[in-house]
Amino acid sequence: MKFRFPNTLSFRLAASIVIIFLSFLLLTFYITFVIIDIRIKSEIDNDLVEDIYFYKNTLNQDSFDNTIEVIRQDMQSNLSGDEFIRILGSNGQLIYTSERTRHLKLDNYTNDILNKMNVIPEQQLIYFNTIQLLPNQENEFRIATAQFTPDTFIQIGESLHNLEEVKELLTHSFTIILITMLIPVLFLSWFIANHTTKGIREVSNAANEIKSGNLNFRVIVKDQSDEIQNLSTTFNSMADRIRELMKEMREMIDNIAHDLKSPLTRIRMIAEATITGTNNDYKTTAEDTLEQCDKLLQYINATLDVAEADAGIGINQTNKVDITEITNDACELFQTLADEKNIKMDTDIQPGCLAYGNNQSIQRMIANIIDNAIKYSPADTKIIIKLVKDNNYIHLTVSDSGPGISSNELGRVFNRFYRCDNSRTKEGSGLGLSYARAVARSHGGEITLDSIVGQGSTFTINLPAC
Ligand code: ADP
Repeated sequence: MKFRFPNTLSFRLAASIVIIFLSFLLLTFYITFVIIDIRIKSEIDNDLVEDIYFYKNTLNQDSFDNTIEVIRQDMQSNLSGDEFIRILGSNGQLIYTSERTRHLKLDNYTNDILNKMNVIPEQQLIYFNTIQLLPNQENEFRIATAQFTPDTFIQIGESLHNLEEVKELLTHSFTIILITMLIPVLFLSWFIANHTTKGIREVSNAANEIKSGNLNFRVIVKDQSDEIQNLSTTFNSMADRIRELMKEMREMIDNIAHDLKSPLTRIRMIAEATITGTNNDYKTTAEDTLEQCDKLLQYINATLDVAEADAGIGINQTNKVDITEITNDACELFQTLADEKNIKMDTDIQPGCLAYGNNQSIQRMIANIIDNAIKYSPADTKIIIKLVKDNNYIHLTVSDSGPGISSNELGRVFNRFYRCDNSRTKEGSGLGLSYARAVARSHGGEITLDSIVGQGSTFTINLPAC
């Protein structure tokens, strides 16, 4: 079976931390190496330059032979044998060489240098080179070559074995550091990765719980990073919303079932009575059936209308609608209904309130709100209808002194098919307010509701003015 690395976020995170750590360690190692190499070589170069100038000064003050003698004595006292000095003629012939140089293969290198120096003879010029002189040993030499007299060259070399030793020591130290730190780093990176992704795992667990039907499961928001806390909070509010929607849906299905049940039961009873022969008045039977069918159709059509309004179908954003005229007409239309319950309608309607949109749906929206106010208000009360326009919005307020709506039902009355318990005895489908809200929203507006149980309700329609 082919081996595959785990494709988890924690593994990737841990691997990234380890890779970053190793890269930094190697980079540090490399930079230290380069710095030490440069520093030691430059110190050696300074030594070589000093030596060259020292012998040149000696030559200025003394004869050539005496200078060679000084060099010889210096070389004899250099017991470590890390240095060599050669004096060469312009064609590379050896004039003087220290003992050690005899074993070194310097010819190829020297010829190259001398060729260069002969082309540009320059008293002050010093050529530096690093070469490996003993092939079987890792012993490098730093060599400086300069003009000594007009016909001769001086060549001084110094072994770089100290540098080799330092480099070896460094490699050793870094290997030990690497080995001793690798295990804690592996552990630490695993810990960090595990800790960082803990919140994500918790959210994922919660999602699985909710998927398997436990809608009450929530992520415990702990003291974690801001991102994970935000994720947990957003996830929890999403879960709350899902639970709410599921509840609304269940409620809606219950309401639909309840509302469809009555006309269907009625139709069934009429049909049964006709079959069993207890009812022979076929005309009344047909009329009754028709009435129940109309109720069902009305119900279905109202549902479709809400869906259309929700989708914003039929709204013409360039069509000007006279809200003042619609409100006045609605008040006139509902006056008879209000009179039947001896409800007084107080109106304060500002002229010239215009909005863009669909005339018919706005008419139905306003009618629904006024109709509800009359329907749910007790007799001998008052309804106040006020239409005002400010800079950008038109506000239509309908206040009644009806039973009011409890605070836990305030948001729900706008849900489709929702009816407050105390209204179930009254005619209605529970679609009027959801239709009104869908129309207001599809016109860029909103409906708000303030209500106090036992005192009354105030519905406000806010629409963008034109
Ligand atoms: P319905 O056909 O039942 O009137 P709506 O969607 O218009 O449906 O209203 C939903 C519910 O909101 C109503 O059943 C009623 O309980 C409540 N409601 C609406 N308007 C008022 C009001 N003015 N006063 C009290 N309750 C109201």
